[in-house]
Amino acid sequence: MQKRSIWLKLLGVQGAVLERVEFDGEMMRFHVRHRAGTERHCPECDRICGGYDHSDKPHTWRALDLGLARAVVSAHLHRVNCPEHGVVLESVPWARRGSAFTRQFEDTVTWLAVRMNKSAVAEFMRLAWRTVGSILERVCEEGRAVLDFPEVKRIGIDEVSYRKGHRYLTVVVDHDSNRLLFAHRGKSAGALKAFFKGLGKEGCAAIELVSADGAKHWHDAVRKHCPNARICMDPFHVVKWATEALDEIRRQVWRAARQGDDEHAAASVKHMRWALLKNPENLTTKQRTTLKEIEAVNKPLFRAYLLKEQLRDVFKTGGQRGIALLDTWIAWAETSGLNEFIGVAQSISDVRQAVDDALTSGLSNGRVESMNTRMQLLTRTAFGFHSAEALIALAYAKFGGLCPPLPTRLS
Ligand SMILES: [Zn+2]
Repeated sequence: MQKRSIWLKLLGVQGAVLERVEFDGEMMRFHVRHRAGTERHCPECDRICGGYDHSDKPHTWRALDLGLARAVVSAHLHRVNCPEHGVVLESVPWARRGSAFTRQFEDTVTWLAVRMNKSAVAEFMRLAWRTVGSILERVCEEGRAVLDFPEVKRIGIDEVSYRKGHRYLTVVVDHDSNRLLFAHRGKSAGALKAFFKGLGKEGCAAIELVSADGAKHWHDAVRKHCPNARICMDPFHVVKWATEALDEIRRQVWRAARQGDDEHAAASVKHMRWALLKNPENLTTKQRTTLKEIEAVNKPLFRAYLLKEQLRDVFKTGGQRGIALLDTWIAWAETSGLNEFIGVAQSISDVRQAVDDALTSGLSNGRVESMNTRMQLLTRTAFGFHSAEALIALAYAKFGGLCPPLPTRLS
């Protein structure tokens, strides 16, 4: 191998000729140029284009360090005239569009950012953390552009808050591979539509089951784009409606006791909270006694407790038996005399098909919730990035399978 081509191999620069090398004791600068007769490409559409002019000032890209020395690749680029994109700077095979780093450098940074803490990555690669964010965005944008999901059949949708002040991401997870398929700023139907658009008509038609909470605009978007999908209402979400109804009734009892100037009764109702809201299998002996007392002295509150527990049983049972139990539950709630539970019965009836589909499929949003927790943790790492897009890119690299392999491990 010629000495010059060894340098290019070490730098990961293909399709170029090395003209000269400068070394000032700390930094190695490699001046390269296109091989004679090399076609020039538009960076936007990769079309072969005619040259327009060439720049006097060389462009530089930082490459991976060579031993103890920093390395920089330098070349004079041409501007090309693309019929679609006009006069633009030509693309080069060793760097991504608009980047000041080589591909291998950016792939290495991404690989490290997925596995190491932020200060270690920044120090090791001699970069600002914010720059790491921009690199992640470029790497993941390229990865997303060639991605399709032909095998995806069961998805879960959720929202993740990523910053104080109600900033949200819409998140879509594949139930079968546990992979993050999509994350997008905002929680409107528009965010979800962007996912379906990317999936394409065929991909949308292949979706069979979608788990989600009760957000109507999401249900509507799924119905509109996925003709063969059944929506499964997240069971945890439905039980939460009942838990909130029960807690509201407990508060009413507490307020009534306080207004009646019965401090002792008010205090005892306050202490009932955990006995009422906890799952029975987790109750302490004292809490069990508290429940018995409620049964004896406060029939409506105890009825509300039983309704909440019965609804949990509906989902524990599942299947056709669960559906039959739910029929009975709704009838009971509607005649319970408890307005809060009449409301819950109504909410369930409004999305009844989605609840029944959750019962027969056994699909919950649990997997998405766990992705949600991991995303929350990631927001701490991403703190310091200049945009939500960089956080999303880190999430794709970490949970979406978009992290490139280490360049030094590729043969
Ligand atoms: Zn073009």
